[in-house]
Amino acid sequence: MLLLYFFANYLQTNISIFAYFCKNEIMDVMKELLQSKGLSVTKQRLALLETLNKANKPVTIDEISSLLETPMDTSTMYRSIKVLVDHGLVYQTDFREGVSYFEFQGDQHHHHMVCTACKARKRIDVCMSSSFDDLSKKHSFTITNHIFEIFGLCENCS
Ligand SMILES: [Zn+2]
Ligand SMILES: [Zn+2]
Repeated sequence: MLLLYFFANYLQTNISIFAYFCKNEIMDVMKELLQSKGLSVTKQRLALLETLNKANKPVTIDEISSLLETPMDTSTMYRSIKVLVDHGLVYQTDFREGVSYFEFQGDQHHHHMVCTACKARKRIDVCMSSSFDDLSKKHSFTITNHIFEIFGLCENCS
């Protein structure tokens, strides 16, 4: 029985150590992402990236607020998230619902197909950013990010 107790204790300790390392690794990835965009690493930016990465779907400011481990005031949140959106680390869209949604992009750039009936969203890997270089040159315009959604009916609604 005692042995079992020790074993359980050993397991639990290792699980928390594992979780700790995972979190540290994620933080390192987030730091690198910020640095790769020439952004300084701040507590707020890291917390937002980590929270959005964990959410793993588009979320509203209110949802981010409730997911954050440490509370952040709304104006700081908006200011920080705007920087992340402007640099393409976070995707912002309203899915035509009139509410802003934010989603972690990091290096897994993607878009969505949205069902106009049931609002179901499907991730898609299609992007036209390869043709942006020509546009950028033609219009002398530096493209920093873009919004692209496909609307229609999902298989349940069509
Ligand atoms: Zn649908
Ligand atoms: Zn794209």
